Amino acid sequence: MRGNCGEIFPRDSPQTKRFPQALSFQFMNSHIRKEIFTRFKAANPHPTTELEYGSPFQLLIAVILSAQATDKGVNLATRKLFPKANTPEKILALGEAGLQDYIKSIGLYKTKTKNILATCAMLIQHYGGEVPRTREQLEKLPGVGRKTANVVLNTAFGEPTMAVDTHIFRVANRTGIAPGKDVLEVERKLLKNVPREFGHDAHHWLILHGRYICIARKPMCAVCIINDLCEFKEKNLDMPSQERLNKLPPGIKTLNV
Ligand code: SF4
Repeated sequence: MRGNCGEIFPRDSPQTKRFPQALSFQFMNSHIRKEIFTRFKAANPHPTTELEYGSPFQLLIAVILSAQATDKGVNLATRKLFPKANTPEKILALGEAGLQDYIKSIGLYKTKTKNILATCAMLIQHYGGEVPRTREQLEKLPGVGRKTANVVLNTAFGEPTMAVDTHIFRVANRTGIAPGKDVLEVERKLLKNVPREFGHDAHHWLILHGRYICIARKPMCAVCIINDLCEFKEKNLDMPSQERLNKLPPGIKTLNV
């Protein structure tokens, strides 16, 4: 099932200790990759971000706020913020103290406040208050890096980008779908390896899978719908409790075992 193998990272590097798959070239069979995404699609045909938003601008602000924070925490803040201020002009009008009042429950809120206000000013000055549609323009906005740009391009504008976060990085390495030593390598391999028909939704499936099933500690391999296709050598075959399974969101399916 596999192609050539050869070492590409030092055996003692932090990446290879955390993700031994990154040690070698591994070419998961393309049929297996297709089967993995076919199952993800059957389980959750229309996956999307768990961030709540009503426009590309709101999504951009929510993604900036989500750095090192949970989507749940961001949603709690934006549910109050967006009804009051849902355009760059209105957020600018809140001022620093006003915006901080809405987002102070979120980590790094002081830096995020400055970035959001500067981003709003740039959107007004250069883009007529709209969110630009190119990676280059997005990455020039304060607080917007490659991952944020990828989320906006994918989720607001429908492009088949891969916003590799900690969850996708873990799932891509464990499964063997796209092993890589850093997020850029995983992103590049996902863009190359994921069958085209799944390109747009792949990053949402992988994030959700990593967030709820293939979690960092004690992944739920026993009920994972791709456990027969996954190459992870240290699968956790303990059955999760019914209570834990009951807490999974509706789009997350498990094996009936
Ligand atoms: S079998 Fe385990 S390691 Fe593999 S994808 Fe499923 S939960 Fe993750």
